[in-house]
Amino acid sequence: MQGMFYEKNISNGDSPQTAATKSALQVTAVNAGAMVGVAVVGYLVSEAGVVGAARTLYGLFKGAKKLKSEKIAKRPAKLKPKEGSLGGPGSGKNFSEKVKNQVRTESDNTCVFCGRKTTKGENSPSKSNIDHAIPKVKKGNNTVENAQNTCRTCNLQKRTRTTEEFLKDIKNGEKLKSLDQN
Ligand SMILES: [Zn+2]
Repeated sequence: MQGMFYEKNISNGDSPQTAATKSALQVTAVNAGAMVGVAVVGYLVSEAGVVGAARTLYGLFKGAKKLKSEKIAKRPAKLKPKEGSLGGPGSGKNFSEKVKNQVRTESDNTCVFCGRKTTKGENSPSKSNIDHAIPKVKKGNNTVENAQNTCRTCNLQKRTRTTEEFLKDIKNGEKLKSLDQN
């Protein structure tokens, strides 16, 4: 291999001595490069390498999800999702307008799940829906303790899950939908 480099260096105009020194270094560089290449490929195909890479990716993934539910936990109390209330005379009933307005005001017109501002009136994805923290079908009642302001998008996504069930699924990787997905 050295001869090949030597010829090339000579044809590039190097003196015989320079061409010889250079070609020796060039051979060393090629060998070193090949060794690094073999080591990298060897590591990647080895079990330890594959498992290690998978663990790193999984860790990044877990970290990202954790951050999201921690973010909700750090909010001021009035912007946190409610656990809800069930039973009693208002069990399974709709909220009164008074309760709905009270909840919108206490949340400062903010969705307790995604944190977006909710709107009133027009039927848009960000429209304010007053959610039963514990759904009516699960005996959730019509008290303020069971009422929370959400955007229509999050409310539709929650379906008939309790707040606790919904947040658990989010913690486990379910992503909140963006407005254009609704
Ligand atoms: Zn929302």
